[in-house]
Amino acid sequence: MVEDPQSIKSSFSEKMRLIRFRRKRENLRFWNEFKLVPRWLIWMVVVLFLVAQIIGQMVLHVQLANDHEVFGPELDNDPGAAGAALFGIITGASLVFAIMIFMVGYVNKDAKRRGMHSALWTFLVIVLMPGYLILGFIIYLLMREPLSYNCPQCGATVDARFNFCPNCKCNLHPSCPNCKREVAETDKFCAYCGTNLEPAKTPEPRELPSVPR
Ligand SMILES: [Zn+2]
Ligand SMILES: [Zn+2]
Repeated sequence: MVEDPQSIKSSFSEKMRLIRFRRKRENLRFWNEFKLVPRWLIWMVVVLFLVAQIIGQMVLHVQLANDHEVFGPELDNDPGAAGAALFGIITGASLVFAIMIFMVGYVNKDAKRRGMHSALWTFLVIVLMPGYLILGFIIYLLMREPLSYNCPQCGATVDARFNFCPNCKCNLHPSCPNCKREVAETDKFCAYCGTNLEPAKTPEPRELPSVPR
């Protein structure tokens, strides 16, 4: 029996390949990504912000009317300045809060569209937040699966893990026949050694662990 010593290594290199693949292909724009955050969540944060401002200003007004010290004598003697200071503090705190909430909303939606365990990732990001702030979010960004994309030949939606298009058998991860490095489906020549790739369009199975070399 010949054990396959490459199985662990190849699953790791497959993971690394998917990460490289994601970096190369996913040219994500901030505002497009931000649109993933559910609308109701954005409105909820806006409403909470306004409520916090109104309550804050009311409390400040009562405190100042009763001659309680809030920001120190200099600011407290100028109700306008005290109000502005409180507005700034609440806005700053709300921004941090909003970023956290939007991260959770984003991870929840983004994990779903990438076919990942959405509830688990959302939970992880929330759990890490009190102690580690955005660490969960960073881990998520590093670990997330690539998005599915369109086959360059027929346009069918293909998973980033696919080696061949299930619709037209297009080789989705072609390698140069000369230097064996990965090339793009649309490349006419190898970017590393200059080999003409046009005649070598026939799909070549990539790294099948069960086939002895
Ligand atoms: Zn195809
Ligand atoms: Zn080459």
